[in-house]
Amino acid sequence: MNPQQALSLKDLQTRYPYQFNEPELGIAMAKGWVVVFAQLCADVDQVLGQDKRGFHWSQVKEKFGSARFYFQFEGRKPDLRLDIQMPGGVLSQVVPFERRIRTDRDRSFEQVNTEIGRLALRAEVATKHVCLVCGKEASQDVGTGYVLVLCPEHQAQRQQPEGLPPFWETLRENKDGEV
Ligand SMILES: [Zn+2]
Repeated sequence: MNPQQALSLKDLQTRYPYQFNEPELGIAMAKGWVVVFAQLCADVDQVLGQDKRGFHWSQVKEKFGSARFYFQFEGRKPDLRLDIQMPGGVLSQVVPFERRIRTDRDRSFEQVNTEIGRLALRAEVATKHVCLVCGKEASQDVGTGYVLVLCPEHQAQRQQPEGLPPFWETLRENKDGEV
């Protein structure tokens, strides 16, 4: 599948089922992020290669108007993510849970973990510039106080009485496996 052709979260789940296995805290993706997220899923799949290592997204959400992509490897403690709101923007830092590297397998895991972390941060930065609703080039809109990243058209629509169309797609596991 060409990432550009992915239209929904459901398409991504169908293409990479293992990546959407048990998202503990759920996945909330803006429609406008689909191209960025599809590219991220494809890149992650490539970095993992044959051994998927129990990789899955643990949470995808919006923070300060752009995306946060949190992932986990089964049986491994996730790295700690810190988001600090600074006057000039948000500073994101990854604090590795384990720094001791003992075996070749640990070393190769560390490489994969670091590479995926880098890809996720890059995708997060990309979502700072795409409209949450439609994916077009956008900038931060403070509107009534809550920061959203919107294109000029959707910034204008936000001011209208009808407001913005629904633009969240969510995924949460339940007992039936339904989403
Ligand atoms: Zn838009």
